[in-house]
Amino acid sequence: MAIEKKKGWKSLPEGDVIEGGGTAREFKTGDWRSERPVHIPEKCIHCLTCWIYCPDSAVITRDGKFVAFNYDYCKGCGICAHECPVKGKAIKMISEKEAKKNEKVCRSQT
Ligand code: SF4
Ligand code: SF4
Repeated sequence: MAIEKKKGWKSLPEGDVIEGGGTAREFKTGDWRSERPVHIPEKCIHCLTCWIYCPDSAVITRDGKFVAFNYDYCKGCGICAHECPVKGKAIKMISEKEAKKNEKVCRSQT
């Protein structure tokens, strides 16, 4: 069942029951984020601990290897960075402000 966007509180189901299953895909939690994880490929040993611990299934893997973070669903909790077992960590958390500034610099250099 598709979830309508911007429903008023009066149209919420009684008891706040979430009708239907598999609705998490429709709630992009990425815009909750104040910090984001950044992968450091040269340090990564592809143990996938980050994938196991991520509460939002926001770590994308392929053939048993880390591929990327899905920033549509990553809410920036930092658990992946905390649990990464590599000395010096293969994931660092940076502020969204810093990330957006870096995006602008990258765009202006292309
Ligand atoms: S936990 Fe760290 S080392 Fe393991 S796959 Fe994730 S980023 Fe790589
Ligand atoms: S910061 Fe949290 S939500 Fe985002 S990828 Fe890491 S564990 Fe998942």
